[in-house]
Amino acid sequence: MSIKENLNEIQARMVAACEKANRSINQTRLIAVTKTFPAEVINEALAIGVTDIGENRVQEAEEKFPNLSNYKVCRHLIGHLQSNNARKAVELFDWIHSIDSINLAERVNRIAGELGKHPSVLVQVDLAKEPTKNGIDESQLHDLAIYLANAEHLSFRGLMTIPPYFEDPSTTLPYFRRLSELLNELNNKKLFAQPLTELSMGMSHDFEVAIQAGATLIRVGTAIFGNRSKIILLGN
Ligand SMILES: *Cc1c(COP(=O)(O)O)cnc(C)c1O
Repeated sequence: MSIKENLNEIQARMVAACEKANRSINQTRLIAVTKTFPAEVINEALAIGVTDIGENRVQEAEEKFPNLSNYKVCRHLIGHLQSNNARKAVELFDWIHSIDSINLAERVNRIAGELGKHPSVLVQVDLAKEPTKNGIDESQLHDLAIYLANAEHLSFRGLMTIPPYFEDPSTTLPYFRRLSELLNELNNKKLFAQPLTELSMGMSHDFEVAIQAGATLIRVGTAIFGNRSKIILLGN
């Protein structure tokens, strides 16, 4: 299957999942996860209408982004961000999905101010509590949210999570529902000038289940571009 055929199929599945969940398709945005794929492949996707791309490593993005063609594209950092890469991340990306500590948030905010940028950020929440997963513990989410609500150079938009992998994607539903609940809880505290609206959740294997639970940003790689040849750690 070509990238175009894959995209058409995913689009159709997104429409069906939104209908089933009684949601508008306009509330769900597809991020094409381009990690490990070269700029030529990304350019092919941009040429046929992909508007959002996701990379999980700052260094890889730094190498590839200069070779992207001139389409308007929104760039998402979806992988773990080490604080020593924060400056490059702010330079390269419009969205950062992986804010997971006040320290990191402070650093990104300060750098955004220095660079005159205003990135959209999400807090990555660790609901799986597996040793390889990044993200903040639920118990610390409130304090980080308060910081972000007042961070002058950041636009705090919502939450992101990477659930454990289950053979049967419907097993993931409670994790996605929990993230949605956490977003509601934060909004109910009325800390924010604008309510938080974004839930970044769902990948190739389980995006329909994520849409069912309210995903607004789905991160899909394999189902668009095929299997990645390199072995890489999810989110690293
Ligand atoms: C690689 C990656 C994805 C995409 O995974 P697929 O299974 O290829 O769709 C989504 N989110 C994150 C954080 C990733 O690292």
